[in-house]
Amino acid sequence: MKTILDLLDSELYDFLNKKIKQKYRFNQIINWIYKKKIKSFSECTNLPKNIIKELSTKYKLRTLRIIQKKKSITNETIKYIFQTIDNNNIFAVLLKKAGKNKLCISSQIGCPIKCDFCSSGKVKFVRNLTKGEILEQILQVENDIKGNIAGVLFMGMGEPMLNFNNIVSVITALLDKNKFKIGKKHITISTIGIVPAIKNLAKINFGIRMALSIHAPYDFQRDKLGCNNFIKFSIADIMNAGKYYIDKTNSSLTIEYVLLKGINDSTKMAHKFARLIRQHKLVRYNVNVNLIPYNYTYNTSYRRSTDISIHKFKTVLYLNGIISISRKIKGEDINAACGQLGCY
Ligand code: SAH
Repeated sequence: MKTILDLLDSELYDFLNKKIKQKYRFNQIINWIYKKKIKSFSECTNLPKNIIKELSTKYKLRTLRIIQKKKSITNETIKYIFQTIDNNNIFAVLLKKAGKNKLCISSQIGCPIKCDFCSSGKVKFVRNLTKGEILEQILQVENDIKGNIAGVLFMGMGEPMLNFNNIVSVITALLDKNKFKIGKKHITISTIGIVPAIKNLAKINFGIRMALSIHAPYDFQRDKLGCNNFIKFSIADIMNAGKYYIDKTNSSLTIEYVLLKGINDSTKMAHKFARLIRQHKLVRYNVNVNLIPYNYTYNTSYRRSTDISIHKFKTVLYLNGIISISRKIKGEDINAACGQLGCY
């Protein structure tokens, strides 16, 4: 049985038009699902019983089960562990920023890329999440907190750009004023750099923010870190795709760089990284560099860079006209920080 969240608008419309012969019910039903966030069709008080019955026999509203909820000591971050219908676990992380709720969501079960420093890659890759399963992470958290999510980060488990068609349908629903009504600047997609997908998303021009996981100044080093497993794109190609993206959409770009002690955090590498950014004409007001402190994951020997090396790295970028911020670490105590979602 499909969930109703998996349907495209045209499919729901056709179902109401042909099967129920009441196409004007479309907006009512969308409102119940996305605004009132019903968990059962029996909650639709303005629908006749026969329609409720038709909908309930044909479609589910929820398939994910929250199996664990972990709160950080600050209470600002909550990690949700969901079980899918085929008994796999996926994760979403609720973050509070300036009083607003942001949700970091998963796009796949496991991750086929397998960056060596990331725990999502240690989880066996099973499959893409469906459009419904991705949207349901948001609806379930909204049900749980009895509030709205104001920002979405595709930075959970998986590589979103390898689940392109579903991600496009999800973004369409997020921006839809009759559904989630989230502003384009409050949606960020982080990718390891699937070049054709970045270009295709630029052409669709949703205007959402793009983040590129670069993590190394040299291709051989990035390959060694496992960021180019399974795909084969050079840093230059990925940066060019990022430039194409902002030129086409006029939105903003983040370049992500996980700082790993003694591996990619020397000032020599900072100079090389700065040169790359300059060469690709990415020193601009709408591009920023995000230096991510490494978060502990199981079975790796990586360590977080010292504050001094982070500061030196930042200074080199600054002297090259590049503004960087170090990402605030959130939820490390509950294994909910970047790269920790596969840890329990
Ligand atoms: N597949 C997407 C989303 C990954 S999660 C991507 O590759 O961009 C978001 C960010 O966290 C990525 O930049 C990822 O490389 C980074 N990350 C992964 N493991 C990490 C770790 N252990 N510590 C800090 N950041 C990590």
